[in-house]
Parts: sequence; structure tokens; C-alpha cells
Amino acid sequence: MSESPLRIAICGGGIGGLIAALTLSRYPDLQVDVYESAAEHGEVGAGIGIWPRPWAVIEQLGIDKELLTKTTVNAQRGSHADRPILYRKADQPQGYSFYRLPSQGTLITLHRVDFQQVLLNAFPKSYKLHLKKRLHSYFTHSSASTSALSPIRLEFADGSHAVCDVLIGADGLDSNVRKTMLQERDRASFDAADSSSASAFHSGPPPRGSRPVWTGGVMYRSMVSAASLRNATAGAHRALKTFVQYVGKGAYVLAYPVTKGHDELINFVAYSVQYEMEGTYRSGPSVGQASREELERMFQGWEGEVGQLCQCLPSKVNKWAIQTVEPLYTFVHGRVALVGDAAHAMTPHQGSGAGQAIEDAYLLCTLIGHVASSSSHHHASSSTRSPPRSDCSSSSSNIHQRLVEALSVYDRVRRPKAQMVAEKSRQNGMWFTLRETDGRELNLGRKSSKSPVVNGAASGGDEAQILADVMERACRGWEWAWRTEEENVGKDVRLALDMLERRPH
Ligand SMILES: Cc1cc2nc3c(=O)[nH]c(=O)nc-3n(C[C@H](O)[C@H](O)[C@H](O)COP(=O)(O)OP(=O)(O)OC[C@H]3O[C@@H](n4cnc5c(N)ncnc54)[C@H](O)[C@@H]3O)c2cc1C
Repeated sequence: MSESPLRIAICGGGIGGLIAALTLSRYPDLQVDVYESAAEHGEVGAGIGIWPRPWAVIEQLGIDKELLTKTTVNAQRGSHADRPILYRKADQPQGYSFYRLPSQGTLITLHRVDFQQVLLNAFPKSYKLHLKKRLHSYFTHSSASTSALSPIRLEFADGSHAVCDVLIGADGLDSNVRKTMLQERDRASFDAADSSSASAFHSGPPPRGSRPVWTGGVMYRSMVSAASLRNATAGAHRALKTFVQYVGKGAYVLAYPVTKGHDELINFVAYSVQYEMEGTYRSGPSVGQASREELERMFQGWEGEVGQLCQCLPSKVNKWAIQTVEPLYTFVHGRVALVGDAAHAMTPHQGSGAGQAIEDAYLLCTLIGHVASSSSHHHASSSTRSPPRSDCSSSSSNIHQRLVEALSVYDRVRRPKAQMVAEKSRQNGMWFTLRETDGRELNLGRKSSKSPVVNGAASGGDEAQILADVMERACRGWEWAWRTEEENVGKDVRLALDMLERRPH
């Protein structure tokens, strides 16, 4: 029997995968390999916002200071009320403000490229980042889901393979780890009932949750030069100073200032949705480009500020079909766990997908690190070809059991929260496009002309009041992101460790 460190494979080097690696680096004696399908790390030219809850993880991991050098936002504690979001009814020539969302928590807005670079700078030196390694599927020896620490075999698209003891699926929306895991999980449940028919699973339809589902929505993202917008509007455009969202029937536009190096930029996000396509599967590409003219046409008839933003866009902007993962009944199976979009790709209407990936990766890897350092420092290693022998497996089965429990605790703590956020985000998407959450169009009552925001609520006609009420509901469903006094990541970690150690909580 030889001794070796616990081998952890992270499939996917996006935000979730890199945060997982960074969290694991706080524990000794781990061998960590990150497998990333892309040939090089590249992020799209767009902004990303991180709410106070996941920002606490960023602080714990010690990368907050470097990130703060790349944002205009003042994240000092106690000054959290400085970035309200202003909502305007804008699908008409004369728009009006109807709500100021008092987020009471700073949304730290960053350029995605900067965020990724800071994560890569912090990537632990002793860990390996393998590029151009697309996981095709994995294989667990049947004992891996029962008793001993037999290796998980990873099969890559280039024909190569590797082994690990724990597999973290951080491979995003179209996750191959998820597809394999759900199949394995279904097969295991079925085998338990009737061990004679496992082969049926190879020919049957993929389990629910395997394939991403289209929301019917398309999101357009780009950066607008603040200088151009200033010139075009004599410095009067609201988005130069404020986080502003323009809403209308079936579409919205969101704009806010960010910095990239010394450049002042405006993050531009537009969304339009065809609800009749919701729940369908896409066959064509999900990512592409749209022309500036396409955006200008889409928002024709909207108030002037929206048109001004569109006119300052570059000639091409990136677009995404917004797809989600249906709520899974589990994020884990044996020693395999999903994090981030692989587990719960959600709509972007609460700006929380990356934040949830950060929370997942942090909690999961804290639990794994805890098990690795509280069990013996080393475990009995076994080669990929030979399953572990029973005579060398007592420490192996002990650590196997502890890891399975740790992953199960992760699932029990994180899954309800992440799925709650996904649902709240879906609801925001409905409200921002003037629908009820059950899909009916909002009944807006009598038209308002101009209706200034007064103390966070609208004054004016019925329409403004109805819209303000809707935003009030959206705000309540969003408070988890910034009200962190009682519910926070530190509390989740303590709860999870208590559950793992069976301490009263
Ligand atoms: C328009 C839009 C706006 C958004 N805005 C925000 C926001 O403001 N705030 C926020 O918190 N979130 C936001 N999100 C969501 C956020 O971008 C995602 O939730 C987040 O990137 C998920 O991170 P991840 O690491 O789980 O997945 P990803 O970022 O998708 O990373 C997955 C990685 O795995 C790699 N990979 C894929 N398949 C394989 C494979 N088979 N083998 C190996 N590697 C593989 C990919 O190349 C990629 O690098 C937004 C999303 C969209 C679409």
C-alpha cells in the first residue's frame, strides 16, 4: 500500500472552478488538477456584478483588495447604500422613473476580464491547470458509490484519461459532469431496485435536467465608451452616474458605469424575450453576435436615453440565448459534485449566477478540505486498473465515507438556496418584462405621463403605482443578496461543518 495525497479534479476553469481551486489551496496535502476545455482563458467583454453575500467569500479568499483596484465602487463596509438601482418605464417616447431600489448593499461591478485575471493570478502554484482538456464523461467503479476510495476515471474528448478521488463538475451550463452524474445516479437507483436491467439506461432518453432549457430570452451585452456617451448627450445621460434599468413589455435595458484599467465604460445589457419559446430546447447556436442596428430597431419607440445608448454601441455586440438547468433533485452523487452553472444555471435577472457559483465552490471545498485535513493526512492510493483490495481499505473506506457525507451536506445546505435564487431570478425576469410570475401580462391600469420617484416609491397615476408595487415585490425577493447580518456564507459554513460532525446546531 502506498500513501498519496487526495486527488481532486475540477472540471472547468471558469469562476466556479477557479474559486474551488483557491479554496482548496488553504488546506495541505491535496493534489488538485483543473481541466479546462478552452485553449486559453478568455472572457467576454462585459461586466459582472457581485453582491455582498458572495463578496464575503472573495474577502475570505484574500482577493478582494486586488479586485477593488479594478472597480469604481466603494465597497467600504457601512457605505452600502450608495448604489441604488433606478427603474424607468421606458417603452414609450416619454419615459419616467417609478422606483429606486434601495439595495443597501454594494453590488461590486467589475469587468469580467479583470475578474478572471485576478483569479488566475491567485491560482495556486502547486496545482495544475490543463487547457484544451474537454471532459467527455467519467466512470466510477461500482464500489465508488458504496464503500471504498476507488478512483474515478475521467475520459477526455482527445482520447486521454486521468483519475481522481473527488470530481468537481464546474463545467458550466452544458456540463458533461452533470450528464454523466445524472445517468449514473439514475442507474444506481434503478439497479438498487432491479439489478438485471441496467443496460436500459444506455438507450433511454437523458434524465431530466441533463439538457439546458431555453427561457425564450436573448441577452445582449457590450461595453459603451463613457466618453462617447458623454459627447453624444452633453454629459446628461443618467447611465454615466447611475445604475439604471429601462423596462418595457417583453424587454429591458440595463446600464451602469464600470472601469477597465484607466478606461471609463458603461456596461450595457439588453434583454428581449418571446415567452412562447420558454421551455423549448435549442438546436442552433446559443451564442452569437448582433449588429448595433438590430438593437436600435429592437428599441425603436422607446425613450430617447435607450436609443442614445444603442447608438454608442460598437458595430457588433455579443448575444446569448438564456438557458437554464431545470431544478435538479441532487447536486451530488458519491464523490462527484456539481457547482455553479453546471448545477443550477439560472437567468441573469438577479445578477447572481456567478455569486452562486462562488458560494457553492467555497462551501464544497471547505468541507472537502476539512475532511482531508481532519482524516489522516494521507489515504491509501489505488491504481486505476485495480479496484482497492479489501485488506488495505479501512482508512480508504473511512475517508470515502467522510467525503460522501461532506458532499451530501454540501447538497443539503446549498441546493435549496441556489434553487431559491434561481426561482427569484426567474420572477425578476417576468416583472422586468411586465409580466406576472405566472406568465400573464401585467395589468397596468391607467397611463401615467411623468412620475418622479419620491422616497423610493412612485407618485402619479395607477400605472406608476402598479409598477412600483411590482418592484417592491422584486426587491423583497432580492434582499437575501445584501441583507447579510443574519443569513450569510459564514453561517452556512458553520452549519455545514456542524452537520458533518453531527454537532447540534
Ligand atoms: C448575460 C449574462 C449576464 C450575467 N451577469 C451576471 C452578474 O452580473 N453577476 C453574476 O453573479 N452572474 C452573472 N451571470 C451568470 C454568470 O456568468 C455565470 O453564472 C457564471 O459564469 C457561472 O460560472 P461557472 O464557473 O459555473 O460556469 P462558466 O463560467 O460557464 O465556466 C465553465 C467553464 O468550464 C469549461 N468547460 C465547459 N465544458 C467543459 C468540459 N466538458 N470539460 C472541461 N471544461 C469545460 C468552460 O470552457 C468554462 O471555462 C450572467 C450570465 C449571463 C448569461
